Amino acid sequence: MARRKKIYEGKAKTLYEGPEPGTIVQYFKDDATAFNAEKKDVIEGKGVLNNLLSEYFMKGLGQIGVPTHFLKRLNMREQLVRSCEIIPLEVIVRNYAAGSMSKRLGIDEGTQLPRPIVEYCYKDDALGDPLVTEEHIAAFGWASQQDMDDILSLALRVNDFMSGVMLAVGIRLVDFKIEIGRVYDGDFQRLVVADEISPDSCRLWDIETGEKLDKDVFRRDLGSLTDAYSEVARRLGVMPNNPPAPSKPTLVN
Ligand code: UDP
Repeated sequence: MARRKKIYEGKAKTLYEGPEPGTIVQYFKDDATAFNAEKKDVIEGKGVLNNLLSEYFMKGLGQIGVPTHFLKRLNMREQLVRSCEIIPLEVIVRNYAAGSMSKRLGIDEGTQLPRPIVEYCYKDDALGDPLVTEEHIAAFGWASQQDMDDILSLALRVNDFMSGVMLAVGIRLVDFKIEIGRVYDGDFQRLVVADEISPDSCRLWDIETGEKLDKDVFRRDLGSLTDAYSEVARRLGVMPNNPPAPSKPTLVN
């Protein structure tokens, strides 16, 4: 088989040239990183779960008319996506205070926000993805005012969709991050939801118990990340046929 060309290797995914022009194969790795890659581990099965979960969310968004880069899943670890130019922003939507917002503003984690709050961080690992305002984004030309209007609307639609999907399976969507890409159709550009949507990029808490079912399990050493992600996949009905083994023996009644 011909060796395919690697385009980019990130912390959790590797991108390869796709079979047709304008396509990319997105490979989900088992690598987990946190705190700007200061903490690292390999979590067996994470890539498979994120591939399936991201497919599930991206397809659902497509079904309600939110454009995404997703084309199709190829196998347990890879999906075919449209190649796009990623806008160098992390678009964060928060429904409850947590993480960096709680720290920055001194608000207890879990406090419900009066309305969803959208924040932008400049994607630059060396700088630690600093928070930026629309003034920076406009002044440095990272996105136009029209782009920003579209990004805000996309972010809020993703939030409504993801909040509803999660609520239906007893999970609170605390916050999440998305990335936005530009695709060109002739002379026109449009914006699509790109990268991935998975428990790596969301905060997900069980509504009843508050149990964390997202990457904070890894960041804060709260237990098995595979078990947490498997639980999300199980509730959504997207568990793989050969699920990753649970981290510890379970008592069978
Ligand atoms: N997030 C992400 N990638 C990043 C930074 C944040 O996916 O590089 C997600 C994170 O998982 C959470 C949300 O964005 O769901 C808000 O993260 P926050 O700003 O609170 O940062 P953290 O506490 O993770 O440093």
